[in-house]
Amino acid sequence: MDTIVLKFGGSSVADNEKLKLVAQKITGLYEKKHNIVVVVSAQGKTTDKLIEDAKELSEKPNNRELDVLLSSGEQISSSKLSLLLNKMGYPSISLTGWQAGIYTNNTNQNAIIKCINTGRIREELEDGKIVIIAGFQGINENMDITTLGRGGSDTTAVAISASLGAKNCYIFSDVDGVYTTDPNRLPQAKKLSALSYEEMLEISSEGAKVLHNRCVEIGEKFKVPIITKSTFNNKPGTVISDIIEENTIKSIVKKEVSRLSIIGNGMTRNFNNLKLILDIIEENKLDMLEFHVTESKVSITFKDKIADDILEKIHEKLV
Ligand code: ADP
Ligand code: ASP
Ligand code: MG
Repeated sequence: MDTIVLKFGGSSVADNEKLKLVAQKITGLYEKKHNIVVVVSAQGKTTDKLIEDAKELSEKPNNRELDVLLSSGEQISSSKLSLLLNKMGYPSISLTGWQAGIYTNNTNQNAIIKCINTGRIREELEDGKIVIIAGFQGINENMDITTLGRGGSDTTAVAISASLGAKNCYIFSDVDGVYTTDPNRLPQAKKLSALSYEEMLEISSEGAKVLHNRCVEIGEKFKVPIITKSTFNNKPGTVISDIIEENTIKSIVKKEVSRLSIIGNGMTRNFNNLKLILDIIEENKLDMLEFHVTESKVSITFKDKIADDILEKIHEKLV
């Protein structure tokens, strides 16, 4: 039987009603005779709230204790989901990061996964259980809890997929795929059906929240196809794999207020695109501090804050 990994983000598990939707998705796939491993984020804005609480108690919270606190968000969502699945008659078990055998280095709040001892996960799967893992956390050599950095549950999911040799890693969230720019910022954004790891890594590293950048690196290294989909509809998502398409603009990321990055393969050979970008900059009398072109990306740093309509103009011309 093949194994698939499903990751559900914070907005997908935000309340009991959403947990029920998630449970239905999981049981549908379980019935189709897959081994199912689920990775969950903390519910809604729980992690933000926990950070706020810690800062209210201490201006400089102790790093070790902060990770104990932050990891609790994912323990709540994983145990709730397991309670629900059990109640629905499906065998399931929740595991914390350390119970799932996730070992990391010692960098609190930004730990890197060193290895995963999959023994317990495999045992539970052999027992026919749906295994629900608390994302975003692991344990270091001192047996202390660590967390993987904001958005790190994606990385838990892809790392677990790699170590189990899973067929696919599905990342479910509030968007039904990776778009040509943040669809919540620009409604004209178009969904991409496929992307290469390299392109996705550029998009994530430039700050698009849709996937944690380290999960893309792991996916590429271990050749795990990552499929991003929506929890709330059944539309086809975006497949991230090692297939590279030449000369197509994939996505535009506006980071902070004065940086724009245009991602796609063959940038250095596509003078037409470069000219279109430079024309918009000139027409709008924008001052640049940096214009940097690599094979897969053009990144521009402006002197001043740029408005969303510049993003819109560049998107309209290039995509
Ligand atoms: P989750 O909580 O499920 O992990 P995130 O909030 O981390 O989800 O990521 C999904 C969000 O990423 C979307 O709501 C969207 O606003 C944002 N996003 C930014 N850039 C893109 C993009 N190019 N394509 C899709 N979503 C994007
Ligand atoms: N709960 C963590 C965060 O909000 C991890 C995650 O959602 O992936 O950053
Ligand atoms: Mg996320």
